[in-house]
Amino acid sequence: MTSNDTPHPTDPDCLFCKIVAGDSPATIVASTDQAVAFKDINPQAPLHVLVVPRAHHGDIAQLAAADPDLLAGVVALADEIASEQADGQFRLIFNSGPRAGQSVFHVHGHVIGGKELGWTPA
Ligand code: AMP
Repeated sequence: MTSNDTPHPTDPDCLFCKIVAGDSPATIVASTDQAVAFKDINPQAPLHVLVVPRAHHGDIAQLAAADPDLLAGVVALADEIASEQADGQFRLIFNSGPRAGQSVFHVHGHVIGGKELGWTPA
């Protein structure tokens, strides 16, 4: 299925599918036909927004394989948010797998910015 097809694949047990559907509360900051952005409940920087595709995909590799246009839409929304809510500079993090820190298995990019960022993340 591509991002132009409907309905979006969803998982009834997925927290981020519920947020996308409006069935679970979140502070939505932007949305498109393809993706939704909302504030992380545990922010790590002045700008910390999660960008998720409306369709359920487990991680970034699965999304890239299934629908590269949708991944591009997620990245474009991240860029738009960083331009509107910070200085246009941002870090976009996709944790992939539990050992990499992924705790919600609906792919999401962490849009981090609004301050000088250190390196490395480990
Ligand atoms: P990750 O650990 O990469 O899977 O990131 C999951 C992120 O989701 C964490 O940064 C959490 O703080 C965030 N999170 C979990 N539940 C919610 C929620 N209901 N609304 C907003 N952010 C959430």
